[in-house]
Amino acid sequence: MQPLIDQHGRTATDLRVSLTDRCNLRCTYCMPPEGLDWMPGEEQLTDDEVVRLIGIAVQQLGVTEVRFTGGEPLVRRGLVDIVRRVRALDADVEMSITTNALGLAKTAPALAEAGLDRANVSLDTIRSDVFHQITRRDRFTDVVEGLAAAEAAGLGPVKVNAVLLRGVNDDEAPELLAWCLERGYQLRFIEQMPLDAQHGWDRSSMVTADEILASLSAAFQLEPASEPRGSAPAELFRVGGGPATVGVIASVTRPFCGDCDRVRLTADGQVRNCLFARSESDLRTAMRAGASDEELAERWRIAMWGKLPGHGIDDPTFLQPDRPMSAIGG
Ligand code: SAM
Repeated sequence: MQPLIDQHGRTATDLRVSLTDRCNLRCTYCMPPEGLDWMPGEEQLTDDEVVRLIGIAVQQLGVTEVRFTGGEPLVRRGLVDIVRRVRALDADVEMSITTNALGLAKTAPALAEAGLDRANVSLDTIRSDVFHQITRRDRFTDVVEGLAAAEAAGLGPVKVNAVLLRGVNDDEAPELLAWCLERGYQLRFIEQMPLDAQHGWDRSSMVTADEILASLSAAFQLEPASEPRGSAPAELFRVGGGPATVGVIASVTRPFCGDCDRVRLTADGQVRNCLFARSESDLRTAMRAGASDEELAERWRIAMWGKLPGHGIDDPTFLQPDRPMSAIGG
């Protein structure tokens, strides 16, 4: 086993796999109302190709966690089968999904039975009209049902990811936390990042970790969690003395690149060593040209070696990546 190390001393063990760039929501901070030019079918990795690359990552590159994302991973037809095949390859790999939960009420038992460990559900509001406004779809109830089904299927601890938008849901932090605490979900707020397809992100209007914590502290007693954070993106706070926690993923105002252990594989088989990388390494073309597992593993290692020390959002020369979040895999 030769792991995915980079020249700044980090080792990537957490693989985010985008299974599709398509999504059935149209969150305003992610993509335009009409959607995007979706990836042509032949460019997307087949189920066999996805499983083969994950197998290489797990068996030859030291990856210990696999998270399926997108786009919306639940719209990928072969999802349950992919999960089952990855589980058959490795009984111990930690496998999770990041999803908007549309359809999860139906799929959660099959995913759990196939070997998925956990679900992270994105939900930015508990007001159904605000949900409609943000996602441009009237599907709040489906998400609530999906969350409950994930918990019931044993895909816990269920985490809820929320993005706060100025003037839309930035007053909702305490309400969201109370709602999640009541149901036993672990809430994490994510700072909005410059990854939207419309390039509309504006640092001066984003809701910062400091603001989120101030808003929560007005309603809850918070204290930094005592467990070491390690490579986890979320800074955790104990709520009301614990054991419940709330997290803040402050990629913009409190970057954690020095501890990053993540690597990404896009739905068309490109390795990205950072969410904000400006370049990718093409495994799909090499794989379809007949490369061996060892060759693909070596290409992957080379791709990781060049990972930059930080995402550079604060650098005046920062350029948003060409692909939006939905095509990279969030
Ligand atoms: N469709 C799935 C979901 O909703 O969880 C997976 C993909 S989605 C891109 C993953 C996460 O990225 C979601 O929690 C979403 O809110 C978040 N996200 C999308 N665009 C973002 C942005 N510009 N800044 C911060 N988070 C963003």
